[in-house]
Amino acid sequence: MNKTALISGVTGQDGGYLAKLLLEKGYRVVGLYRRGATDTFSKLREHGILDKIELTDFDLLEFSNICRLMQKYQPDEFYNLAAQSFVAASWEEPIYTAEADGIGVLNILEAIRVFAPHTKFYQASTSEMFGKVQTIPQNEKTPFYPRSPYGVAKLMAHWMCINYSESFNIFACCGLLFNHESPMRGKEFVTRKITSHFAEMYTGKTDKPLELGNMNAKRDWGFAGDYVEMMWKMLQQDKPDVYTISSGHNHSIREFVERCAEFCEWNIEWQGSDENEIGIDTKSGKVIVKVNPKFYRPAEVEQLLGDSSKAETVLGWKPKVDFKGLCKLMMEADIARAEKGVL
Ligand code: NAP
Ligand code: GDP
Repeated sequence: MNKTALISGVTGQDGGYLAKLLLEKGYRVVGLYRRGATDTFSKLREHGILDKIELTDFDLLEFSNICRLMQKYQPDEFYNLAAQSFVAASWEEPIYTAEADGIGVLNILEAIRVFAPHTKFYQASTSEMFGKVQTIPQNEKTPFYPRSPYGVAKLMAHWMCINYSESFNIFACCGLLFNHESPMRGKEFVTRKITSHFAEMYTGKTDKPLELGNMNAKRDWGFAGDYVEMMWKMLQQDKPDVYTISSGHNHSIREFVERCAEFCEWNIEWQGSDENEIGIDTKSGKVIVKVNPKFYRPAEVEQLLGDSSKAETVLGWKPKVDFKGLCKLMMEADIARAEKGVL
């Protein structure tokens, strides 16, 4: 019989890639989404899978709803990808973020404990929990030091999973995933902000420079399509565990800008410093990028670099898309969208 998987956050970046993967594997996929006044299914439509998954209402904060879902579906696997996932917003909405990303996960664990203790649970933990990094690189043994309400809330959820696994024998796995991007990434995140804006400039839809905050921060970026496969693999193991998933390389925001600019045939020269810094295309003299301190964060995660040797050994982790490939993939997708007027 086909396995049943519940995916919360199915309308988000990872939700779409994971749903596609599980459908290909023959799963019955139930997509949990929260009702909104506007259409949130565009990514699932673009993946061509909207009519292939069963959709049902869900909110991380509605315990009664989660209990009923667990009772009704008795899922083999539950992937919790739902979250207030934008770090910058977590300082504006710290209480909501703590409730959704912390207590919300506890709601699911409790519902599993009472109604479907056989369910294997995946929790989307994050490299943001390393924050002010205590070692370089970071892996499963690195002490945490979160730097945002988002990181703190995710850390609570992380330890709750470990605790429920140890206390009640619940199969709860945590993926310590480093930043992963794709053409489906929200436009508020820096990579997609860069590729979508550059695509508009490149296709003549705007000549406004791109405004960014701290360009010196470094991230270990990978491709979301590669990363969701590891979520599935974690739940196919005999025992629940924590795994770091990363590319093992990091780059600054500035390098991401330069690489995407090359794709648009611009050669960026940097002038000025701090909040007065600008990036100019040496051929046209046009200002392509400028710093706007509005995008600085109250506390910054300066650098992240992952060590995935455990996942390499146990799960056979081998990402297919590298940094350059990721920039190309995202730029190509956004230029195609800009040309069609659907960016
Ligand atoms: P995303 O694109 O922002 O998607 C988040 C999803 O959560 C959306 O479907 C959103 O629904 C849903 N959601 C938000 N609040 C909810 C609530 N209260 N109840 C129910 N659903 C809610 O995030 P992503 O990039 O796919 O990331 C997936 C998960 O991995 C998140 O938990 C994120 O924190 C974590 N993570 C991501 C990365 C990364 O680099 N992408 C790295 C480490 C960990 P709407 O469509 O209605 O907004
Ligand atoms: P995060 O690692 O989950 O916070 O992912 P983001 O893509 O939101 O941010 C990655 C890094 O880019 C952080 O260090 C931000 O401070 C930096 N950054 C610089 N300018 C911007 C910007 O305009 N928007 C965003 N989202 N991040 C920016």
